[in-house]
Amino acid sequence: MIVHFNCGDTLQMKKKHPCSGDLFLVLRVGSDIRIQCKKCGRDLTIPRVKIESSIKKVIPQNEQEAEHGSHSST
Ligand SMILES: [Zn+2]
Repeated sequence: MIVHFNCGDTLQMKKKHPCSGDLFLVLRVGSDIRIQCKKCGRDLTIPRVKIESSIKKVIPQNEQEAEHGSHSST
């Protein structure tokens, strides 16, 4: 399975971080992916091949912004 995500996106992982957080912010994308735990703020680098199998859900950056409710353009 190929997972598409970019810097600034949030990844929900199947495996939780020791701090119990499961949401990670993507800091850098390459052959290795650098992500930061949104709960404790620690960052980790994971090889792309490994991370793809542990992603539960990708939350795109623009989708997070939509949460703020900017649909007042009628
Ligand atoms: Zn954490």
